[in-house]
Amino acid sequence: MDTIVAKFGGTSLADEEQFRKVAAIVAKNRARKFVVASAPGKRFEGDIKVTDLLYRCYDMACRGESFEETLSEVEERFKSIRDNLSVSYDISSDIDKIREHLRGTPDRSYMASRGEYLNSRLLAGYLGYQFIDPAGCIHFDEKGIVDFEKSYEDLGREMKRAGRAVIAGFYGSMPDGTIHTFSRGGSDVTGSIAAAAADADLYENWTDVSGLLAADPRIVESPRTVSYISYRELRILSYMGASVLHTDAVLPAARADIPINIRNTNRPQDEGTMIVGSLPEGRKLHAITGVAGKKGQSVIQVEKALVSDGTGFTAVILDILRMYGVPFEQCLTGIDTVSVVIRSDYFTPAKEKILKKIREKLQPDMLSVKENLSMITVVGESVEETNGVTVRILNAVTEKDIEISTINQGAGMLNLIIGVEEKHHDETIRAIYNAID
Ligand code: ASP
Repeated sequence: MDTIVAKFGGTSLADEEQFRKVAAIVAKNRARKFVVASAPGKRFEGDIKVTDLLYRCYDMACRGESFEETLSEVEERFKSIRDNLSVSYDISSDIDKIREHLRGTPDRSYMASRGEYLNSRLLAGYLGYQFIDPAGCIHFDEKGIVDFEKSYEDLGREMKRAGRAVIAGFYGSMPDGTIHTFSRGGSDVTGSIAAAAADADLYENWTDVSGLLAADPRIVESPRTVSYISYRELRILSYMGASVLHTDAVLPAARADIPINIRNTNRPQDEGTMIVGSLPEGRKLHAITGVAGKKGQSVIQVEKALVSDGTGFTAVILDILRMYGVPFEQCLTGIDTVSVVIRSDYFTPAKEKILKKIREKLQPDMLSVKENLSMITVVGESVEETNGVTVRILNAVTEKDIEISTINQGAGMLNLIIGVEEKHHDETIRAIYNAID
């Protein structure tokens, strides 16, 4: 392997002890030429992330309050790492610039980005790597969307020039040169962009867990770690609430076909989870890759003879939902029925108006609503015998006397979504995991 981009999250860089672990990991493999760093995260339960302290400084400055105490907390955190590791870096002069900025017209994104900026400069000094400021080479367009091509070109050039570098995560710049950040946890996205820009062989994402678990450990006792998962499966599970990586971090690496490896800085001996384009053949993989669930769902069911007569019945329903700003999660159509799964927090406030409109426009034979549902998703892309597994899943659920209100089966791979009453959420996940895994 020639080039690895290794991204280290906030807890991996929370203090000098963690910096030492990071340096040992980087030194272990010469291919780890590029490191993407987050701002220092929590060192212990109840601690405050540096990014949150910076947001706090910004809020205080906007309210005209004194931010000095909070800003010196930030300064102290960096100074303590620097002094304990004997790095030469003039942190005070960078903090002075931040202070100056706060005294003028403070900018929220600029403030948030300073955690990554300072930490990456510090880490670069410690590792003896160059520092790359993404302000000049990760570009957002006017709408705040990444301009990938331009970013790959500029960042790629900088990376090539540097040879070995630490790149600050979480931010880039707008067309007018002002700083813009990704949403929270966005250093994962920077890492993925950097991996694509460098045409890396691997994108390592170092965090404080040894990978993605096949089920929520608060529901299933000691679920196994997923060793391999496809980009597609991960997107589905993340959407359902399984969080191990920022959702936008998959795309750049996936497009460039670069595998992502989730690793644990505190347990570097663990192999973690590999996120890949296609799952390795010939390896005995589990019947399911993972199971996750989402509460707070509703289903509108509309029935009318000759629904599928080509008059755009379904489109009318979706249009009505759009009119009330209700995005749909799934849409299931039968011969004479349409069921639309939607999030209750969007639906409930506009429920009566939506139902009235559907009645008016479609004069359905039957219109019903089910609320307080959970959607449970099971993915297992490499399952050869999808039908058999599906039957086992449905049996496991019905054996527990849990009524299934909707079933949606993705085509060509195991991606089964079943709707159950919210009160059966945990029990359904446990039943499926125990029956299949
Ligand atoms: N420091 C930022 C946050 O706390 C970004 C990141 O850590 O990825 O959200």
